[in-house]
Amino acid sequence: VPTSATAVPYPVWGWGAPGQEPTAAELAALRPLLTASLGPLAEPSWGGLPEATPSRVALPDSLAALGSSEPVDRARHALGRSYLDLIRGLSGEVGPLPDLVVRPQREADVEAVLDWASASGAAVVPFGGGTSVVGGVGPVPEAAERPLVSLDLALLSGLLELDRTSRAARFAGGTLGPAADGALKPFGLSIRFFPQSYERSTVGGWIATRAAGHYAARLQHVDDLVESVRACTPVGWWESRRLPGSGAGPSPDRMLLGSEGTLGVITDAWLRVQERPTSRASAAFLTPSFPAGADAVRRLVQAGLAPATCRLIDGAEAATTGSLPPGADAGSALLVLGAESAVGPVDAELAAAAELVQDAGARRLPDRSDAGGSSDAGAAWRDSFKAAPLLRERLVLLGVLVETFETAVTWDRFAALHAGVTAATEDALQAICGGGRVTCRLTHVYADGCAPYFTVLAPARPSAEAEQWRQIKAAASDAVLAAGGTITHHHAVGRDHAPWYRQQRPAVFAQAQDAVKQRLDPHDVLNPGLWAAGGMH
Ligand SMILES: Cc1cc2nc3c(=O)[nH]c(=O)nc-3n(C[C@H](O)[C@H](O)[C@H](O)COP(=O)(O)OP(=O)(O)OC[C@H]3O[C@@H](n4cnc5c(N)ncnc54)[C@H](O)[C@@H]3O)c2cc1C
Repeated sequence: VPTSATAVPYPVWGWGAPGQEPTAAELAALRPLLTASLGPLAEPSWGGLPEATPSRVALPDSLAALGSSEPVDRARHALGRSYLDLIRGLSGEVGPLPDLVVRPQREADVEAVLDWASASGAAVVPFGGGTSVVGGVGPVPEAAERPLVSLDLALLSGLLELDRTSRAARFAGGTLGPAADGALKPFGLSIRFFPQSYERSTVGGWIATRAAGHYAARLQHVDDLVESVRACTPVGWWESRRLPGSGAGPSPDRMLLGSEGTLGVITDAWLRVQERPTSRASAAFLTPSFPAGADAVRRLVQAGLAPATCRLIDGAEAATTGSLPPGADAGSALLVLGAESAVGPVDAELAAAAELVQDAGARRLPDRSDAGGSSDAGAAWRDSFKAAPLLRERLVLLGVLVETFETAVTWDRFAALHAGVTAATEDALQAICGGGRVTCRLTHVYADGCAPYFTVLAPARPSAEAEQWRQIKAAASDAVLAAGGTITHHHAVGRDHAPWYRQQRPAVFAQAQDAVKQRLDPHDVLNPGLWAAGGMH
């Protein structure tokens, strides 16, 4: 456990707040469970914080107070939160570090930093919460010869305006999830957007990556919440008009959604907000198999029922989290449905959903309070969802290669995609790690398709983790595209998905994107090369 004075400090690579660091006792308790399913494990090798090379730039006097060249600060900004980032953090192979971390205090500072970078040749990576799992923040290999600035938006934070009549709120780009929701609470409102990284990710980051919250149906992506966006580009401000909808040409917001810091720095945005739910109900079911469960879910959404929570988890994954009932067949699947409302009881909605999935072959499970567990299947599911990032880093410390990847596909191709991707990834695990397991759940559901989310656990080889991960990622991503899926449903493109994104997007569209980039960022300041040549960092 990272206690050595030379080890990379937990805040650089870890998820939790101080006090949530993994302990030796926790790891010792987990190890036998893992070795029982994955075989012998070898812990990753620890390294120390690399010696920071001297900063290659100095900000002009007018901006100097915003910059930090402190080594731990720079190291934190060299990492996102992917498996690869965790391994880089643990091994101490973090570098190259950004030359400076710059924290604007006002939006005029953002403009001044971009002006300075355009004139001086520095590259700038916008940094929200740094929770990217796709190599979206961190080193920029394409700009290795140029000074690199991490533009951390943490100080541009807070609720800036609230329009209660239209039920919309304007947030500064660096606002973290809990700060955004907390600011609305006194008004009885909620952001109602809860990605698993909610506590550490920001409004600007969500928009830049087209993030999705945990609600399975209706208002899945942040796209659905965005009313207007204000961004600073190197050639001027980009601000869209607040509108509930518009048919006036292609939407300016759509171009910024998913732009991943390549076109502009999102300084604030108006988001549609929701009444805080006052009633909730949930229920858990067992379906005979994962495909059978998917079919039940399809019928549910196509019937117009859209439960807030609708997670279908395959038996092997449910067993890992302790949520599969004792004696249940490992080939079965767990379905958790939850309804919530701000205007009245939801029992009738849940009952209708329950009836429909039971007609489709699902069996309702008894309330867990009967067995001394949580009385609410939805609450139990939410607890394990929130704890997952902390569990992940404990697994990595014990020598487990942990990768998650997600896609979306229309229902007609779902079964083939699920089978094909699982088989291709399992084959890769066998060849590269000598074993391991691939599990799947559905995180989001639509009338015309769903978003399967795969989890990979395998024994990692110390010092070879990055190469093992690259090979597995490539095999899985090839299989996703071959089966007609998208390279990402909500984790974004980043450097890791770039080679497959380039295959997926139409060639003429790629030319249009390049032209937009050149027009808005003529000196290639913002996240240079993010989707271009290199691919995985
Ligand atoms: C444990 C874990 C769970 C996760 N769960 C989810 C999930 O449920 N749903 C989901 O969608 N994603 C999830 N993610 C991925 C990640 O949290 C999202 O991509 C999130 O939207 C990133 O926000 P951020 O503020 O951390 O952005 P960062 O990681 O800091 O940046 C991401 C990208 O956006 C750019 N960027 C950031 N802020 C701005 C800005 N203001 N203006 C312009 N560009 C900007 C960066 O340059 C970078 O390219 C998860 C990640 C982790 C580690």
